[in-house]
Order: sequence, then structure tokens, then C-alpha cells
Amino acid sequence: MAHVKLHIPGPVEVSPKIYEAMSRPMIGHRGQGFKDLYAGLQPRLQTLLGTRQLVYLSTSSAWGVMEGALRNLTTKKVLNCMCGAFSDKWFDVAKRCGKQAEALQVPWGSPIRAEAIEARLATGQFDSLTLIHNETSTGTMSPLDEIAALKRRYPDVMFIVDAVSSMTAIPHRFDDLGVDVLLAGTQKAFALPPGLTVFTASPAALAKAATVSDRGYYFDFVEFEKNAREHMTPSTPAISLVYGLAAKVEEFFSEGLEARYARHRHTNQMLRDWGTRHGLTLFPDAGFESVTLCCFNNGAKPGAGRTVDAAKLQKLMKDRGILIDGGYGKIKGTTFRISNMGDETPETIQSLIGALDESMKSL
Ligand SMILES: *Cc1c(COP(=O)(O)O)cnc(C)c1O
Repeated sequence: MAHVKLHIPGPVEVSPKIYEAMSRPMIGHRGQGFKDLYAGLQPRLQTLLGTRQLVYLSTSSAWGVMEGALRNLTTKKVLNCMCGAFSDKWFDVAKRCGKQAEALQVPWGSPIRAEAIEARLATGQFDSLTLIHNETSTGTMSPLDEIAALKRRYPDVMFIVDAVSSMTAIPHRFDDLGVDVLLAGTQKAFALPPGLTVFTASPAALAKAATVSDRGYYFDFVEFEKNAREHMTPSTPAISLVYGLAAKVEEFFSEGLEARYARHRHTNQMLRDWGTRHGLTLFPDAGFESVTLCCFNNGAKPGAGRTVDAAKLQKLMKDRGILIDGGYGKIKGTTFRISNMGDETPETIQSLIGALDESMKSL
């Protein structure tokens, strides 16, 4: 089957080098080989997340830890900050876990602001909140610094932050922010196959989890901490993915983290400029656009730029061996998304733009 290159916002393209690293022979997960592998990775993962806490490896997609965080940390009521498909879903997941939950909904494309959160936290009803840093469905980034600053005034509220589509593309400083959980799945900006989630938890989160009796087993934060101290995971991890992660993290540091962040800003700007040249506008509110993907309006919304048949564009691009996304959730059909996260360089984005330009001629 001909390879179709992924420019959807996850999973993203995985390099041959990573597949090669992942094909190393299997080892036992309680043996020295695995312990050395995880121990070798740990300091770099800590640098990447900006933390001195241990970084855990969960064999699950992000939702495993997103659900797990609620089971570990919500005993009173969770405030779900909602601005798109993934953040809206977290509210639904909280209710499915039997948690008391309240929706803090803003229109899709708008960011979550600290002021709105503060007004709810001031009621004293909440012991936790969920926030998605980069809402991938709408291409909108919420101001994490401003929101995390609230933690000082509400130290007992557990701040659970999803950085699924921003981690490794944007600097994260977990300890400085003072939030309680930070997590990301590997199939987004890490440019690894899906199946692994990297996360960390604050001392306060670990202390709280230890008091919660129905936190389950598979995503028990206390188990993750206990095992990570011995360079292990609670249950058998996806060892092949950990091989891939080790190779990938090696790449991050040989490129340099600052260079990696700058590369994402640059390639994202190239895509924005491409859109501007074609009279397209971005879906998110100005000033809150993601740097790991562009979510373009296709003109279905009045006054929102040029009209583009996104389904046709997607088809034309696929014929050229490239997959872009035709919109997600309730904005499918009125937006389309193109990802620049992971390994993409100015050269690969330039060739993507070449294919987009050619495809636009046939629209
Ligand atoms: C992709 C994504 C998720 C869901 O990840 P899964 O791997 O499907 O569990 C959650 N949050 C954000 C922001 C995402 O982009």
C-alpha cells in the first residue's frame, strides 16, 4: 500500500529511525535492562517537563491518564474547563467516573481565561480542575501561565493539565507552574506511535491520591511513583515504545530543545502565511492560536475568509500522498486542520505547501 504521509494532528508521521529503534529485542520489564533504559531516560524527561518529580510512563493513550487523574484526585467536585472536543469530553468522562463535575464552557475557538476559572473556584466547591493547554480540535492554546498562577490562591485544588499536543513543541515548566498533573500522549508532538503517555504528578497530588480509596489500579498514581523510584512501571509497559521514546528523546536533545521549539513556531508560521496568501482565516481567537497545528475556517462561517471545499481539498491532498484533517467534532465541515508537529522541518512544510498550492488550483 502506498504510504500516505500524516499531516493530521495526531497520530503524526513517525520516522524510520524510530521504527528501527522499536524493533530491538524484547527484555524483561523487571530486569536490569529495562531499569537502565528507564533510568537513562528519566533525567531528560524531567528536563523536558521542567520538573524534579519523577516522570511516569503509562501504557495507554492520553485518555487513560486523563481518566486516571480524576479517579486519583477528585473527591469533591471537578471543574472541567471546556473549549473544544477534547476538553468537553473530559466533563463527560468525569461524570462516567461518577464524579461531581461542573462545566466551565466557553465557545469553541476561545481560550480558557484565569478570570473565569477564579470566579468558579471562589465558590469553594471544587477540589480539582481539568484544563487542556492546546485544544487540538480547534487549534486554540489557553494561557497556561495565567491559569497556573491561580494555584497559589487555591493550593488545595488539584490542577490537572493536558499538554498532549504541546509537550516537546512548547517549553513546559511543571515545577515553576506549580500545577499538579501534566500529561501527554506520544502520538502527537513526540512523533512516536500511539500507546504511551508520559506524565508527572506534584507531591501534593501524590499525597492526595494516597488518601483516595477508589483510585483503581492501572492508573494508580501512588503505584506509578513507587515503581518509578525503582525505574519500573506498575504493570508491563509497551517496551518497544519505550525504546522508541529513548531514541526520540535523544534526538530532542541533539537538536536542542530551544531549536525544537523555534522550529515549531517557524513551521507553524509558514502554514499561517500559506493560509493568508489564499485568503483563509484561522478558527481560534486572535492571539490564542496553536503553534503545533493550524485550524483554518473553510468559509462556511459568514465573513470568515475564502470558501474552500475542505472535503475536496482533503481528497486532492490524499491523491498526492498527504493526509490533512477535515475538521473534528462539531466543526467538521466548517474547518480543516493541518499539523506541523513532530519532525516537520521548513523543508518538509515547504513541500507540503507546494502540494497544497497545487491542490487549491483544482478547487
Ligand atoms: C489527541 C488528544 C487527546 C486524546 O488522546 P488519545 O491518545 O486519543 O487518548 C487528548 N487531548 C488532546 C489535547 C489531544 O490532542
